[in-house]
Amino acid sequence: MKNIRFGAIFQIAIFLGVSSLNAQEVSTEKTTSNYNYHDAFAPFFYTKNGTATRSASGQPGAEYWQNRADYKLTATLSEQTNEIVGTDIITYTNNSTDAMSFLWLNLDQNLFKGDSRGEAIVPVTGSRNGRQGQIFDGGHKIKSVKIIKIDNKKIAEVEAKYLISDTRMQIFLPEELKSKGGKVEFKIEFSYISPNEGSDRTGVLETKNGKIFTIAQWYPRMCVYDDIRGWNTNPYLGASEFYLEYGDFDIAITAPANHIVACSGELVNPKEVYSAEEYKRFLEAKDSDKTVVIHSKDDVLAAKKMNALATKTWRFKLNNARDVSWASSAAFILDGARINLPSGKKSLALSVYPEESAGNDAWGRSTEFVKNSIENYSKRWMEYTYPVATNVAGNEGGMEYPGIVFCSWKSKGKKLWGVTDHEFGHNWFPMIVGSNERLFAWMDEGFNSFINTLSDADFNNGEFKEEKEDMHENASSYTDLDLETVMSSPDNMKEANIGVLCYGKPSAGLIILREQILGKERFDLAFRTYIERWAFKHPTPDDFFRTMENVGGEDLSWFWRGWFQYNWQFDQGVNSIKYIKNNPKNGVLITIKNYEKMPMPVVLDIKLKSGKVDRVNLPVEVWQKNIEWTFKHNSTEEVEKITIDPDHVFPDINEENNVWTDNKGMLEKDIILDPYLGTFSNSRMPIKIVMSEKNTALNVEITDYPEFSVKSIGKDEFESKRAGLKFKFNEDKTGFDMIIGDGRTIPFTKEK
Ligand SMILES: [Zn+2]
Repeated sequence: MKNIRFGAIFQIAIFLGVSSLNAQEVSTEKTTSNYNYHDAFAPFFYTKNGTATRSASGQPGAEYWQNRADYKLTATLSEQTNEIVGTDIITYTNNSTDAMSFLWLNLDQNLFKGDSRGEAIVPVTGSRNGRQGQIFDGGHKIKSVKIIKIDNKKIAEVEAKYLISDTRMQIFLPEELKSKGGKVEFKIEFSYISPNEGSDRTGVLETKNGKIFTIAQWYPRMCVYDDIRGWNTNPYLGASEFYLEYGDFDIAITAPANHIVACSGELVNPKEVYSAEEYKRFLEAKDSDKTVVIHSKDDVLAAKKMNALATKTWRFKLNNARDVSWASSAAFILDGARINLPSGKKSLALSVYPEESAGNDAWGRSTEFVKNSIENYSKRWMEYTYPVATNVAGNEGGMEYPGIVFCSWKSKGKKLWGVTDHEFGHNWFPMIVGSNERLFAWMDEGFNSFINTLSDADFNNGEFKEEKEDMHENASSYTDLDLETVMSSPDNMKEANIGVLCYGKPSAGLIILREQILGKERFDLAFRTYIERWAFKHPTPDDFFRTMENVGGEDLSWFWRGWFQYNWQFDQGVNSIKYIKNNPKNGVLITIKNYEKMPMPVVLDIKLKSGKVDRVNLPVEVWQKNIEWTFKHNSTEEVEKITIDPDHVFPDINEENNVWTDNKGMLEKDIILDPYLGTFSNSRMPIKIVMSEKNTALNVEITDYPEFSVKSIGKDEFESKRAGLKFKFNEDKTGFDMIIGDGRTIPFTKEK
């Protein structure tokens, strides 16, 4: 490619003895645009380079490490007092490169203590967080913390020193925990009284056949120690969710004998807890695509008459998970069906719900929804890894845990599908892809909301299909100037903004990225790769951004910046058109403009007089060095209407300038260049200047200098700011004055 340098023009000035020549001129054009392409396309979006633990390509680095927490848990539930008494034996493996003298754990139940930080910041009205006004003795009670040591094959338990600060507990280790594989085992005895409504994530619901306990954030859980911040000890304040280590779980739950218990993971002792008849139906369900009732309404009523003091212990096993939750109730009807996974493996969909929620317009379809949701996400993104998926009817709006979710017992029909599908979508974000929810809710809620939009369309031939989102309608809510950014943590944004910033906006962003920027094929591959790379690991926002760019093969910094890092608005408009040589037969020049801070690709429809509509797509790069852009469209007839973003796929906050019509829009007059063309010379100079027409512009060739084009700046006057030259033609176009920089003029005459 030819290297055009305008430095050459300076030599004309030197040749002519002009001492000062200023080729730069300040534009006097008034701009009403807030767009700055330096800001939008600036380099170094990433503030850090890749590291040994996190590659610049977005994958875990060669020396990526992650700590591990394996749990042995027991719980005994009291129906009368809502108390859970448990033991928590944790084997913690320190794979980091640092030795440790203490550990941090989450005591999330402490949010429900009367004097917690989270309780202090719950506003008087309009919040779903905290304990919803309930006066009770909430919070984790720690009876003991003991380090388990094996000395000479004898197991010894040594009391450990610990400190509790709000929802965190620091345990001091008697011996330093070695780096790169050091292990420590310790046991915590704990109890707590469950809140009735615990930040909409755990609770107790009264039903006519007994209480429904939905139990979560129930045992002391390890904080994550990572290569980003070391210990992640942000307190549980209510809005922000969780960040947890992976490991294997053994769980034993002792509940009243007339309860059905559901839990993350596989039931290990079904024969001990189900009647012979129920066990038979349980096996039937495992092998059936249709929902099979395992514990019916009649069974619920019969169980009511059982001895109230008797108990049963339900044992579960769950591997490679970051958490475990469970539910227990005498009111539970239980049904199930087989889940068919792409590899040929099977899983089991289960639902537990009270009589009040039964019926085919409600929870009677829950298992069908669970099965479809899991099968679909497994097909589209990554295969489900747990043996069971249970939907529990509780008093939460909807809450996700590995292999189990709590959805509102009141939900029915499309709403029940929506909440079930959303909560099970969370099994991929953040249960499989273990991002830090406490800081980056958009990486689970947003990604999940995005995959939900596809599954809505997929389910049962579109039974609950949503209409496509109108991005013009939602633009002002997504980019309202009062909003925080998507990257803000939920604890750092107004509760009313969480829906937009953690769910809607990031999801809409991924839809734009998929459908308008990368295309479905490239997007899906990159998104799947992100899931595979970070399955059961701890990705950060950069790991996601870098993976999408590396696999998608695109620098998307302008997009991350405008939509995720900042809250930039977007507004494209069509300004004016000009027929070439004022004749529609020659094609049309269309001028568009970017008015707000965010750039986007351009999609526009050009409707011609004949009714024909031409769709034009321009890449985002037209805005990389322009605020305004003029392009040629090779039409051969008059334009009736031009519409920017006709399908409303971009968040354009100002629709008014999106449409140009022939009765209202600006039509510019083209300058007929023919009279200016020719070869011009000056008898005292050894150069010739050839004026020709090139790509509808007046083109200037000066002997031995690179050619350039000039713009009309008035009657018979043209200019190239880059060359620092003006050309003023005389009335009959037989010559012109070439005006250099500071005003010195040289006359040229047209050759015959
Ligand atoms: Zn969610």
